[in-house]
Amino acid sequence: MYPSRFRYEAPRSLAEAIRLLAEGDGEAKVLAGGQSLVPLMKLRFATPELLVDINNIGGLDYHRQDGDGTLRIGALCRHADLERSALLPGSQPTMAEAAPLIADPIVRNRGTLVGSLCHADPQGDWASVMTALGGSVVAEGPRGRRAIPMADFVTGPFENVLEHDEIAVEAVVPPHRGTASGGYLKLERRVGDFATVGVAVAVETTDGTVTRAGIALTGQPLTAQAIEQAADLAAGAARPRTDHRGSAEYKRHMVRTFVVRILSRTGPAAQEQAPGGQADPGPAAERAA
Ligand SMILES: Cc1cc2nc3c(=O)[nH]c(=O)nc-3n(C[C@H](O)[C@H](O)[C@H](O)COP(=O)(O)OP(=O)(O)OC[C@H]3O[C@@H](n4cnc5c(N)ncnc54)[C@H](O)[C@@H]3O)c2cc1C
Repeated sequence: MYPSRFRYEAPRSLAEAIRLLAEGDGEAKVLAGGQSLVPLMKLRFATPELLVDINNIGGLDYHRQDGDGTLRIGALCRHADLERSALLPGSQPTMAEAAPLIADPIVRNRGTLVGSLCHADPQGDWASVMTALGGSVVAEGPRGRRAIPMADFVTGPFENVLEHDEIAVEAVVPPHRGTASGGYLKLERRVGDFATVGVAVAVETTDGTVTRAGIALTGQPLTAQAIEQAADLAAGAARPRTDHRGSAEYKRHMVRTFVVRILSRTGPAAQEQAPGGQADPGPAAERAA
């Protein structure tokens, strides 16, 4: 199917893009990688009157670390940039593990992390990663800039808190205190598929004690018992839906399993045997599941 008729603009500055969005009065949409928006337009699930393509705006394709360790990911940083990043493996293990698991190489070459957060697909991978890391989204509009914590950014499936004239200019991950560890495990029916279940865990430790965790586990050593407790909490908090990829019960069980696996290879408990007596088979095994 072809999209319905729309006007197309490709401004060269953020200010011009924001002006166009404001002019669109709720009928305009930002086009970033187009990997989610274009299929929706072709199916006519999205029928914007104006597309504001931000790809000609310079200086938005970065991911970089500030002096204090804050990580900033610009609106035109592609999934592939993060997959090939020299920065992430040493500094953000959860993101480094998630990036190659997004879709397939073609989608990763165009799609953006910020676009994925804005799209707010419940089966997308980056929202859970950014939530576990305590990240935020910086939006810019006619009234200036504001930072929105990731926990408040997504309000429901395919919904976010952006005003119609705001652009998400970057995603921000705060600096970690102590040693960062963690990971991302994704259960998919075949390589490149959306997640049946995706679990992101980000842990910060100082002298073997957890000082911050992307799941509810702080102020105690990462023992096998604490891992089991965290996995129970995460599974209890998960709200999966039964669909063609599996039942809610199955998905909740996988959340628990993945939390145990990631935490078992994290910090001091990695030296102990993983709960259940099983060695962690690593993400490749999940991809093949
Ligand atoms: C075959 C296929 C498989 C996929 N598999 C996965 C997967 O396994 N995991 C996964 O996480 N994703 C997957 N995706 C989605 C992919 O990651 C998209 O790249 C991503 O969801 C959207 O990013 P984008 O830059 O392409 O955004 P676009 O498609 O350009 O935009 C998506 C939405 O976000 C809005 N938007 C985008 N950028 C901004 C901005 N800066 N400010 C304000 N609004 C903005 C747009 O207006 C639109 O509403 C898949 C897509 C395809 C086509």
